This record gives sequence, structure tokens and C-alpha cells, in this order.
Amino acid sequence: MIRIAVVVVSLLIGALPARAQDRIGVVASFSILGDFVRNVGGDRVAVATLVGPSGDAHVYTPSPRDAKQVADARLLVVNGLGLEGWLPRLVQSSGGKATIVTATKGIKTLDADDGDSHDHGKAAGKHDHGDEHTDPHAWQSVLNAKIYVANIRDALIAADPAGEAVYRANAEAYLGKLDALDREVRDQAAKIPAASRKVISSHDAFGYFADAYGIAFIAPQGVSTESEVSARDVARIITQIRTSKIPAVFLENISDPRLIQRIAAETGAKIGGTLYSDSLTAENGDAPTYIDMVRHNIRTLTSALAH
Ligand SMILES: [Zn+2]
Repeated sequence: MIRIAVVVVSLLIGALPARAQDRIGVVASFSILGDFVRNVGGDRVAVATLVGPSGDAHVYTPSPRDAKQVADARLLVVNGLGLEGWLPRLVQSSGGKATIVTATKGIKTLDADDGDSHDHGKAAGKHDHGDEHTDPHAWQSVLNAKIYVANIRDALIAADPAGEAVYRANAEAYLGKLDALDREVRDQAAKIPAASRKVISSHDAFGYFADAYGIAFIAPQGVSTESEVSARDVARIITQIRTSKIPAVFLENISDPRLIQRIAAETGAKIGGTLYSDSLTAENGDAPTYIDMVRHNIRTLTSALAH
């Protein structure tokens, strides 16, 4: 009897940690990528996210805990395109052997200078800005998000071939949801009259959204929240709101609201709500998942602009 009990206890003790260890350790650089990995990886992966809910992935100071997580990971999923400037140093200092998966691989990128917002200073000639010239916010187009998901699926299969069928089935189901989401955004956007399809946000995070869904965004701050907003940038936005009769300005979850509040007060443009650009929220917020985020954003835009 005692021997049986000992065997059972040791089986239990043995089974639990072994299971946890069998999971594929994946670190995602920020919350949106973490959500994609969870959807594709399901129970076979253990996902950790470096820049958590409502964090800013442009400017981030990794903690010792982050370094430990990266050191222990099998896969490190990143956006690339210059978003996570703080990451190479973290990877180097962690000394880990994680395979780095660039989730934007194969995406047709947009130039950071595309659109109306940064036409000033363009005549300065050719610069070698590298990634600074690329807009990193590719996830804001749902069709691009499908490419992220396919890249993550392929990387998980390569790291864990035994899980191939699971990863393929999970990805297939999630890609179907993204197709439906893309249609939903197009249907909602179609309700906004052509004359109202121009809005103001804090930083240039919606270039891919604008390109995909036909709503133009103008922002006082460039594609990275690292850049300073000058008085000239603000004056330019205020002039544009007046001359283009832009009806609404939007706050962002990762940015200080005061700049947009000031622009609204000075121009009389209404504050249309908060958009989620670079980060999901905690579970009890408006955007705990990518699908919730995109749905919240298009509904906020439509309710402010479609009349
Ligand atoms: Zn951003």
C-alpha cells in the first residue's frame, strides 16, 4: 500500500514539471505578437511577452527578468522594421540561443514618409536611415496580420515538428477569424463619408490601416514615439485641421493625451475616443486581444465620423 502511494506521488511529481518543460518556450517582443503566438501555439507553447499591456514597444527598458526569459526561450518573435531598437542589446546580453522569428517577413512595407504627415524636410536629399525610413506598424492592416500569423505558424512547426497538425489547425481557424475581421473593418469604413476620412492621432501608427482601409491619419509625432514633437509640428497639424476641416482627433493608449487635448481645444475638433495602436490592454480593458483591438478602433472611428 505504502509502495503504491510512493509510486503515485512520484509519478505526479514527475509528470507536472515534465509537461511544463515540454512546452515550447516562446518570447514575444510585445503584446500583439504574444496574442498571435497564443492563438497559433495553443497549449503546446508557453508564451511570455516583453512589452506588456499598454506598454510602448518603441521605447522600452528591458528588465533582468526579460533577459532571463530571452535566455530560456526556444523562439523569440519580433516585429522588426526598426520597432524594437532596444532588442539587439537584450538578445546579446541574454546569451540565449533562441531562434529569432521576424513576424513581418514578406510584408510589403510602407515608407515612414508616406502620406501627408512628414512631407516637410523630404527635399533634403537621400539619407541612409535604414529602418528609420520604414513604418514598423504593419499589424494595423488585418491582411498583414495574416502574414504575421503564417510566419509564426511556420516557425513553430520548424521548432516543434511533432505539433505540426495542431499549429496548422490553430492557424487555419485564426486566419479565418482574421478574414472575417478584415471584412468587418471594410464594411464599417464604408459607412464613413469621403469628406470625413481624415483624422488626427498622436503618432504615425496607422499608415498601414490608412493604406488598407482608406482613412487618412495625420500625426504630430513621427512613426516612433522616440521623436520629439516640435512647436512647428503642432502648428502644422492645427493648420491642417482648419484647412482640411478635419472633424475629429483621437487619443492613443500608449501616448500622453495632453498634446491631442491641446490640439482639440485650439481647433474645436472633437476628441473621437482612444485608439489602440501599438499595444493591447489588460484582460479587463477595451482591447485584450488583437481582434478586440481592431474592432474597437474601427468602431471608435465610425461612431465619431459616420453621420
Ligand atoms: Zn508606434
